[in-house]
Amino acid sequence: MLNLSEDKARYHSLLHSLNRAANELRLYNNEEARKAREILSKELNKKGGDASLKINALGHAHIDLAWLWPVRETIRKGARTFSTVLRNMERYPDYVFGASQAQLYQWVKEYYPALYEEIKERIREGRWEVQGAMWVEADTNISGGEALIRQVLLGKRFFQEEFGQDIKNLWLPDVFGYTAALPQILKKSGVDYFMTIKLSWSKFNKHPHHTFWWEGLDGSRILAHMPPEGNYNSSAAPRAVVNSEKGFLDKGIGEECLLLFGIGDGGGGPGEEHLERLEREKNLEGLIPVSQGSAQDFFDRIDKEDSLYKTWKGELYLEFHQGTYTSQGRNKRYNRKMELALRELEFAAAWKVLKADNMNITEEIYPSAFLDKTWKETLLYQFHDILPGSSIARV
Ligand SMILES: [Zn+2]
Repeated sequence: MLNLSEDKARYHSLLHSLNRAANELRLYNNEEARKAREILSKELNKKGGDASLKINALGHAHIDLAWLWPVRETIRKGARTFSTVLRNMERYPDYVFGASQAQLYQWVKEYYPALYEEIKERIREGRWEVQGAMWVEADTNISGGEALIRQVLLGKRFFQEEFGQDIKNLWLPDVFGYTAALPQILKKSGVDYFMTIKLSWSKFNKHPHHTFWWEGLDGSRILAHMPPEGNYNSSAAPRAVVNSEKGFLDKGIGEECLLLFGIGDGGGGPGEEHLERLEREKNLEGLIPVSQGSAQDFFDRIDKEDSLYKTWKGELYLEFHQGTYTSQGRNKRYNRKMELALRELEFAAAWKVLKADNMNITEEIYPSAFLDKTWKETLLYQFHDILPGSSIARV
């Protein structure tokens, strides 16, 4: 009601119904609540018309792998968040949830194997979406080019081996700016889509589009989308739906946008309040329609050859978190030393393979298990609150 104009009949019918419902409530017992709900259900059953814009809602729980807590707490955060998701899926058949970061799945697999099996089942069923080709949601300003390629290589490989899925989207809701090298790296790695919300946080200039082609240094283009609410912790309340429609900068060109609901940063994810709201917003007079679905299906639908989406060329710079190129300089120095050392080790090992007189390539000749383990640890430390220096000192 608060999001409608007072000129609207809908505003007044809601006002009257709410008033009548409130008058039923004196003792707040079950009988009174039933009567109040009966009055309100009439309003909640009024349908909308044909919509020019739709919302694809998707359950989300942004989990920083370290931030105001160390990595070891994140392992527990993952387990708590994912358990909540699984239990709510039993109660809400429309519920679709997505989670990124191969590293997080790897921890669940290692520390909570029973939970991991349940997650696998929901992935098979299609209600749990595996997102974001990278090993972690990595910083892309300081991380080197080779490391960004490894993020995608090792992320995609994990998801392929564990779930039999080729992940085609990059999921970086919260990273502090995006290098112009990314579209080329992604395109060549078989990633066609990119999701972030972070540019909505820019302090001075408003990024001009929510759905756009992002063109990199070599001319490679990928399709990018930013949920117009500018928030990856959406309440999924009517105000979130109204703000998505109001804020969407590509109205008339784009016909769909994403809404990411659930509590995040330290995980948590969607609660029953989000899911109950969504039950009522599928087709409701006064709101554009909202349905739950995966991000990949959303991208597949909006990726149209004849689209009129605009193109953004070059870096996606975030005018907000400052000092991310300089804070905790030691971390940055050792990250670069590590990247260079790994390159040299691999170069030397490859040379050794060429010089080997038999085809039996042992770990001694080419340390592939050691490289895999060391790269994964290096990639973890490129997480977007670790390498930028935005975590607590303990991290
Ligand atoms: Zn984050």
